[in-house]
Amino acid sequence: MSKSSSTGSEKRLRGVTKKMLPGLRRQLEEERAQLRGQAEQLEADFRDESWKERRSDDEAEIGSAISERERAMSLAQHARSQLAVIDEALGRMDDGTYGACVECGELIERARLEARPQSLLCLDCQRARERVR
Ligand SMILES: [Zn+2]
Repeated sequence: MSKSSSTGSEKRLRGVTKKMLPGLRRQLEEERAQLRGQAEQLEADFRDESWKERRSDDEAEIGSAISERERAMSLAQHARSQLAVIDEALGRMDDGTYGACVECGELIERARLEARPQSLLCLDCQRARERVR
């Protein structure tokens, strides 16, 4: 595995090799476990209604308890949506379509998949999507 790689041509490689899949899958599974833990923790946080029982008349305190819950909820939603993407990437590994862009069907840049194994879009489609937002 010590093949000289300073040519820069690797950047243009697309898709994944069979050999790469176990490592990428492990990365995804680790990230999934971590995100799931985070999401569950955050969801427990915003289900926690003990702040209501404090019966505080301090509006600032109530306000901050509420915004704290809203923050936890949006972070949990974010974690859940990331989980869904990871699940989709893992599913695509199972059905053999992993590495192809879900939008245009072209193979995704390999460096991109290595950096972010849950990528479902090639760089061009990702950029196009970001422009639309
Ligand atoms: Zn694409």
